[in-house]
Amino acid sequence: MTNTGLMSAPPSDPNASFSPIVVSGIQPSGTLHLGNYFGAIRQHIALHEAYESYFFIVNYHALTTLHDAEALRRYSVDVALDYLALGFDPEKSNLFLQSDVPAVNELAWIFYTMTPVSQLEKGVSYKDKVAQGLSANAGLFNYPVLQAADILIYGGTRVPVGADQKQNLEICRDLAIRFNDRFGDGTPVLPVPEPYILDDVAVVPGVDGRKMSKSYGNTIGIFDEGKDLKKKVMSIITDSTPLEEPKNPDTCNVFALIRLFADDSKREEVAAAYRSGGYGYGHAKKELLSLITDYFAGAREKRHELAQNPSYVQDVLREGGRKGRAQAHAWMERVRDAVGLITTY
Ligand code: ADP
Repeated sequence: MTNTGLMSAPPSDPNASFSPIVVSGIQPSGTLHLGNYFGAIRQHIALHEAYESYFFIVNYHALTTLHDAEALRRYSVDVALDYLALGFDPEKSNLFLQSDVPAVNELAWIFYTMTPVSQLEKGVSYKDKVAQGLSANAGLFNYPVLQAADILIYGGTRVPVGADQKQNLEICRDLAIRFNDRFGDGTPVLPVPEPYILDDVAVVPGVDGRKMSKSYGNTIGIFDEGKDLKKKVMSIITDSTPLEEPKNPDTCNVFALIRLFADDSKREEVAAAYRSGGYGYGHAKKELLSLITDYFAGAREKRHELAQNPSYVQDVLREGGRKGRAQAHAWMERVRDAVGLITTY
């Protein structure tokens, strides 16, 4: 039987009649990096075991910026490999490709007809592009609407979000509220999803000290290793305080990364070394290199194994997609019925 996520309790709060469902999308537009890991993936891995949940690789969204078929295919499989290697258990949750649930575009269309253009004009990514003098395509403009469809087509009630995603979740909540007002007949048709913030992760800095981001080319990949990893760690920008002088760990990019990987005692030990002097940034970088290497050692090994077994990864995505489509189908029946779309097949 398909679990539609519906329960029969009378609605007092907007989501009282819906069972908790966690939903999140991951963009396959480049190699996943440490910012993605600490800002999003780590929370996803923790949540996927605790709730009924749907995690999907948003390849439709990636098309707003990536127009290279080979790269899109590769990144999509890479994201699946990364999640599985980092501990995502497909027996406990669903991992699939957004495009394996094409009905999400139908829901997005219905939402387009309910979204004020003025609201999308305030979108941060869209505004950034325009401010940089770049021409944004209609996909980028409409990005938050497809995102809302992604959440609500599975009846998502909780969405793990970083600070940068709050605005898009607001658009989704507005749409759900508007939909219920317009079509609900007093009973909510759709949940109004809540942000789910597990731990407030500070922005992870990239090698140049700005926010680590694919678009700045300053990332350290989760699965970087060997010379490549070493080169990136050694290139982290620091100030020019001489080796023998005391240093402030709290303003150092290297230490900002060390603190993510180190346990409390290691963190204190390194911070004390910074403050006491005689400890150079080269030492700190070596420490960081060994912390990163150890932290992901198990996942790195698992990823190598998984990469040898592409049919397993395919099976996981296919099965996840099957469950995703079943869930989406049940919600779309409600939506189509609510808005008055007749189905004759
Ligand atoms: P990018 O900036 O590299 O394109 P995305 O926008 O695809 O990264 O990020 C996906 C999610 O990963 C974000 O919603 C955010 O929660 C998290 N994230 C990305 N970069 C960082 C960072 N530098 N620090 C903390 N979290 C981050």
